[in-house]
Order: sequence, then structure tokens, then C-alpha cells
Amino acid sequence: MFPGGSLVLTGANSSADLRSKTVKYQHRDEVDEWPLDLDGQGDPDEMADARLIAFHATGDYMVFKSSTPTIKGRSRIDAAFEAGDQRHWNVCCPQCGQEQKLVFGGADYSFGLKFNKEPPYQARYVCAGNGCIIDHSQKAAMVRAGRFIAENPKGLYPSFHVDALTSLLTTWDKMAEAFLAAKDNPSKLKAFVNLWLGQSWEERGEAPEWKLLLGRRENYARGVLPVGALLVTMAVDVQGDGLFYEVVGWGADKQSWSVDAGFVEGDTADPDGDVWKQLTKIWERRYPDAYGGSWPVDAVGVDAGFNTESVKHWVRGRPKAFALKGMPGWYLPPLGTPAKVDITYRGKKKSKGARIWPVGTWSLKAEFYALLRKEPPTDGAEGFDAGYVHLGQHNDERYCRQIVAETLKEKEWRGRIVKEWVSTGDNHFHDCRVYNMALFDHLGGNRWTGDQWRQLAQQRGVKKVAQLDLEDVGLGAGTMAAQVKPVVASVVPRKPVSVVRKGRGGFVNGWK
Ligand SMILES: [Zn+2]
Repeated sequence: MFPGGSLVLTGANSSADLRSKTVKYQHRDEVDEWPLDLDGQGDPDEMADARLIAFHATGDYMVFKSSTPTIKGRSRIDAAFEAGDQRHWNVCCPQCGQEQKLVFGGADYSFGLKFNKEPPYQARYVCAGNGCIIDHSQKAAMVRAGRFIAENPKGLYPSFHVDALTSLLTTWDKMAEAFLAAKDNPSKLKAFVNLWLGQSWEERGEAPEWKLLLGRRENYARGVLPVGALLVTMAVDVQGDGLFYEVVGWGADKQSWSVDAGFVEGDTADPDGDVWKQLTKIWERRYPDAYGGSWPVDAVGVDAGFNTESVKHWVRGRPKAFALKGMPGWYLPPLGTPAKVDITYRGKKKSKGARIWPVGTWSLKAEFYALLRKEPPTDGAEGFDAGYVHLGQHNDERYCRQIVAETLKEKEWRGRIVKEWVSTGDNHFHDCRVYNMALFDHLGGNRWTGDQWRQLAQQRGVKKVAQLDLEDVGLGAGTMAAQVKPVVASVVPRKPVSVVRKGRGGFVNGWK
């Protein structure tokens, strides 16, 4: 295959490799996962481009980029696809012959993939031309007879979009199942759009008006876990003159309740200061639930970005306590791999005596706002949506203003518009909530199956109450069977099928 040649495999995280070799044919895989900047030395994509310079005159080089697209604006494969001729696979309707590109559609579309909300999904495609119903049994032959059509013939090179609708490796029913399991959870929906539709996800930065949040507060008691709240996390934002904290209760379907939120005043620079003792008292509280039990905080996170030594000292030796550091960027896990750092207390230094955990805040902020935008049920309707953010009367104006004090701002980056988060005012409670979300994920809340949640519910005595209550939070006997499967099927970030691993691919530079 490579007569007289050589094959070089390298990672996009090695600037040495990307800088050293001349390579005529390149396959750059999963380019959306590549870092924007490699060790401060520049864009790895551009480093790889520079490896082609020797072939510019002859033009006989080839680059194949492939990737699952990720976030609009930031996505490398999106930009490469857009600059290309944008080929989509088109098929002819077996009934009327209308040639078309298959789209997922949605409730607002008269055409596209249609399916039942419960199994059997009976997914079928409604033809855009004449509304013909295309049965899944007709899919394979229809897809095989299709062809790529370029939507941007003036593009610089061929670029291709591939998605699960025309994949012969999966079924429309599986696609429907994946969508239904993801639709109420912003991070799962994002993964569905990326992996199954091969499309980038547009992050939205709008939060509801703080007044709206103030107006929809509920009457549950402060410091008490409402029905459905099974996990308890606590997060702390450190200021020079005190500590902002929030305690959050979490349900199986990610509904959350602000159980307590407040500010403890005092000088945080002194690790032995009174304010840290007060924090200990709050942390040691137990939270009574609706079933007669009471529970401690399952995990607490303290922002170590300010007065770091005090934070490290407080967290050290304390079970279930994490020193956290918020990190900018879109592709970071909620809670990453901790870094071991030195700790100094009363003039004594202990080498590598503390751990600081990076928090990928950007995606969490977007998810938080998506959850915050969920509206309470209107009069007569039953139950809250999965992921709904419940606020209590203790969540005052300051709290409501602060949780929405971040916005997504567009800026130009290398000729593209990218979005980044900026604060629009005091945002301490916003930070607390984002850290709470990272802890919830770290504890496993986003990945647990219905069985695992049910187990937790049993440990916490939930079986004592009527099942009617449990149905509100996705744990009722009636909903359990339906609940278990989707949760398992939509575990992120494992890629569900190999089909859409390459959502989009494209050739760039040189050759057609
Ligand atoms: Zn038709």
C-alpha cells in the first residue's frame, strides 16, 4: 500500500511530531477534538498544513479530514465542510421518485423521520415531495441507489456529510430511540445532534430574566430535601470577604432543587479564620427528606481560584471534598483529572499535598441555561420536565440575578465567529451551581441507570412513600420500565454506533 514509503501515526497533542516531518498524504482524524493551541506554539491543524509545503508547487498532496462535528463556530470539521462543495447523499422516494436529502425534521416539519413516542417506534420517513410514507424496509435499496449532490459547487474541494439517516449500519427505530432518550437533556441532545445527525450544535447563552425566576419560586422549605431529591451536592465560591455557597438536591431525571444558598461573611485568607469554621458547620448539616430520613452532603466542591491555600487546607483530609478550578473551553469533562499541588500551612510546605480538580465550565454553563429555560407546567398540566431547576423562597433577588449573570459572547477567532462565556455582573451563585453540576456528574448522576437510581432511592427510604410521588421524578413503577432503557442507551460520551462516528468528512487542500 505504501511502496517505498512510510506511515507516520501521531497525536494532535505532539507539537514535536507535527513540526518535524514532511508528509504528502495526511488523514487528520477527529479534528474537532484537536486543541486550539498546542503548548502555546500554535494551531496543530496549521502545523500539519506546514508539513505539505514541499508539495505546494506540484500540488499532488492530499489531506483527508474527518470528525464528528461538535460546537458551531468552534468546529474545525464544520469550517472545512462549509468551505468545500458540501455534498449530501440524496435518494429517490420509492413511491413518487422525488429525489431528496433525508432530514431528521421535527414536530414543525411535515416531512422527515416520524415515529411513535413509545415503543414500538415504527419509524418511517415522510417524503418531502408528496408526503409518501417510506417504510424502513425500503430504506436499504433506496439508500444504495442514491448519490452525493454538491450544494455549494463553487467549494474549494469535495466535502461530504454523512449521518445516521442514510446509514445501513443502524435503523430508523434506533435513531428514534436515541432521540427520545436524549431530547429532554441538553447534554444528551447535543451528543445526539453531533453523533447521529452529524451536525454541529449551536450553544445558546440566553438565560431567562431574573424576575421570571424570582416569580416562579416554589414553597418548599429551606434546608429540606423535597420529594424526589436523592443526591445532595454543595459548592462554594470563595471571595476575599466571605463564601457564597449553594446546596442542591438532585433527582433521577436531573430535576434539581436549590435546597439552601447563602453567604458567610469573614476573611477567607486565614485558613484558621472563623468563616471556614462556619463553612464546616454548614457542610456537616444533614438534610431531612420527605420520607423521614436525613442525609449529609454527598460531595462538596470549593473554588480554589482565590485564597487557594485556605481552600486546600479546608478540603484536605475531608471526605467527599474537592478543591475545584474552573477552566475555559468547550471540550473539557465536567470534572477532569486532578493535579497534585503543593500545600503550605502555617509556613510549612507539604509537597504535592493537595489535589485540584479542573471543571470544564463552558458546556456546563450552556447546559445550566438550557435547564433553566425549562418552564414549569402550566395550569392543569402534570409534573415538571426532566432537568427542571426548582427554586425556593430562600432564593432571593440577589441569587436570581447572579445565576443568570453570564452570557455567551461572540468573537472572531481565525476568521471564524466563536463563542465564549463572559460575566455580566456578580456571578457567584452561578459558579456555585455550575460546580454543583460538575459534582453531580462526578458522582455518576448523569450515567446511572434507572436501576442504580432505584437502588439509591431504596437506600434512602423512598420506598416508604406512595408511588404517585415518585412518578413525578421518573422513578415511579409505571415509568420505570421505560426509564431504564433510554438511560442506558444514551450514556454519554460513549459513541453509540460506529456509523456516525464520522458525522462529516472532507478533503481539503489540493486534489479533487
Ligand atoms: Zn414521495
